[in-house]
Order: sequence, then structure tokens, then C-alpha cells
Amino acid sequence: MLIVMKAQAGQEDIERVCAKIELLGYRPHIIPGEQRTAVGVTGNQGAIDPAEFEDLPGVAEAIRVSKAYKLVSRETKPENTVVSVNGVQIGAEEIVFCGGPCSVESREQILDSARAVKAAGGQLLRGGAYKPRTSPYSFQGLGERGLQYLAEARGETGLGVVTEAIDVETYDLVESYADCVQIGARNMQNFSLLRRAGRSRKPVLLKRGMSSTLDEFLMAAEYILADGNYNVILCERGVRTFTDHTRNTLDLSVVPAVRDLSHLPIIVDPSHGTGRRDKVLPMGRAAIAAGAAGLIVEVHPAPDRALSDGHQSLYPSQFAELTSECRAIAGLLAKRQGSTGSVSV
Ligand code: PEP
Ligand code: MN
Repeated sequence: MLIVMKAQAGQEDIERVCAKIELLGYRPHIIPGEQRTAVGVTGNQGAIDPAEFEDLPGVAEAIRVSKAYKLVSRETKPENTVVSVNGVQIGAEEIVFCGGPCSVESREQILDSARAVKAAGGQLLRGGAYKPRTSPYSFQGLGERGLQYLAEARGETGLGVVTEAIDVETYDLVESYADCVQIGARNMQNFSLLRRAGRSRKPVLLKRGMSSTLDEFLMAAEYILADGNYNVILCERGVRTFTDHTRNTLDLSVVPAVRDLSHLPIIVDPSHGTGRRDKVLPMGRAAIAAGAAGLIVEVHPAPDRALSDGHQSLYPSQFAELTSECRAIAGLLAKRQGSTGSVSV
């Protein structure tokens, strides 16, 4: 249920609605909008009678949300959500580039990477300190030492840090260093981890599971919002198909589909999406053309020596090429939208 407030409703009217929701044993979610505020209700098992709210002062209407995902739905919030990560606005007009190695390997490696990402026009730094690896014998990440190196790289370059949390046990530690916590494809339906992310105040980058449908992806995001964290960025990173010319199939059609159904920003990871360095640039360009809010890309100062995902990591000069070509595409689209007044890409 969504309680839509009148444009002139005051703070006390909104608080009265929230108190009533809590009295009924449900959870209120205040959703500010350009024209009016709405209050989402979650936690109810059956339908709620709209009459419970429609007589309260400041309430315009109480409407049922038809989708199974409530808070991530555009029905609930028509305006795009913009998520701020260390001051970088994701989902706003400007496209955003997050670059860096798959794993933090050493102090020098992450500092070199951060400098290269910054010089190439990237705004955020990625790098895993806790790695979800297929083999238990592969490099698992540097743990807290890796987080410390990331923090040092942020201190030097000013780039915000995006890094993965792979379990509830280490979430506190990861969020204490990160500007944005990544939940990886393998954990997209780890519901206790999603709930932990929902209790965090740090933005979350939620990657699509490698075999998940759009509905499952949005329901995973709903877990995080339902527990009170509204700063979620979605990320398409490729799904498993029968093709063998790439590691995954980058499902770019999910970008306009998400934008239709949800107000949350969506970015694309063409590195895991293709698994091949030579495919990252063309698919990154395509992602921006499809309407993605930005890209997350693996970049390494010496990809051939990388401890994970070197074959899909860009050389710094290739990352610079990617940012400039994608910005040119985004500029063309902005001009086109400006001339036609259209907002859908
Ligand atoms: C990563 O970003 O390095 C990663 C492991 O991604 P994914 O969860 O998409 O495989
Ligand atoms: Mn990787």
C-alpha cells in the first residue's frame, strides 16, 4: 500500500500517517518526491483497507501497489533515484565510471590502479578485499589489509571506494571502510546478507545473479529497501547462456526493462559480462547507449600479472579510451533528448 500525501501536507501529517502504520504493526517508508511525499507500507500479509488512511489530514489517497516488489517499483516512486557515493551522483545526468582491479593485491597495485583510474576520468575505485572464488585454492583477497590499502588510495586520489562484502560476519568491517558495499552475483539471493545490507546506511551495489530473472533481481533489491536502506544501485553483469565466445552473456535489454519498472539506477559491468578484454570497450559503449547510469570496469596496471580476472582487465590506456567514447555517446543522447523532450532512452 502507498499513502500519497497532498502537496501541501506538513511534517506532522506525515508523522501521523507513519504512527498509524506502526500502530497496525507495519513498517512505514517515507518517499520524498518532486510534487509530493508518499509513505510506503510494508510488513502486511493481507490487503489493508484504504479507508484506514484516507480520512487522515494531509492524505490525498491510499493506493494498492500491484507489483510484488513495492519499494523498488516506479509505481511507488515515479522519479529516478540518485544515489550519492562519496559525493558522486549515480543515476543523475552525468554517467559514472568505477574502475579498478578485480582484487586488491598489494599497496602499490591498488595505488597505481587508483591513480590510473583517476587520470582516465573515473570517479570511483573498485577492488575486492574479500573475493568469492570458485576454487578454495585461488587467491581469496587480502582481507582487512586490502581494505586499508583501498582507504589509503581514496585518501590520495579522492576516489570513492566500492568493495565487496561476501558474508554477514565481515559486513561491519567492509562497511566501515567502503563508500559503497558490493553484493556480488553469487550472493544476490543470500537473504541474510541482503537484510544486513538493508540495516546499513552505506549505499549498496547489487549485482544481478548469473541465472536470475528480472523479477528475482528486483525482489533482491526489495529486501534491502524493505529493511530501510534506500540507496541501492543495480548492476547487470551478464548471465549464463549456451554461448562460449564470452564468459557470460551481457543482457543489455535488462537496462531499459529496469528503467521502466524501477526508479533505482542501473549500471553495467562489461568486464564480467564478457570475460574478454577486447569485448569490454564495445559492450561498455553499448551499455551507455542502452541507458545505463554508468559502468563498473576491471582495470589493472599489469593485467598479465593479475591474481584474478586479468584476461578481462583493461590496461589503463584502454580505460581512458572507454571513458571518453562513452561520454561522447552520453553527450549525443542528452542532446537528442533535449531536442525531442523525450526522457526514455
Ligand atoms: C567482481 O566484481 O569482481 C565479481 C566477483 O563480480 P560478480 O559478482 O559479478 O561475479
Ligand atoms: Mn572480477
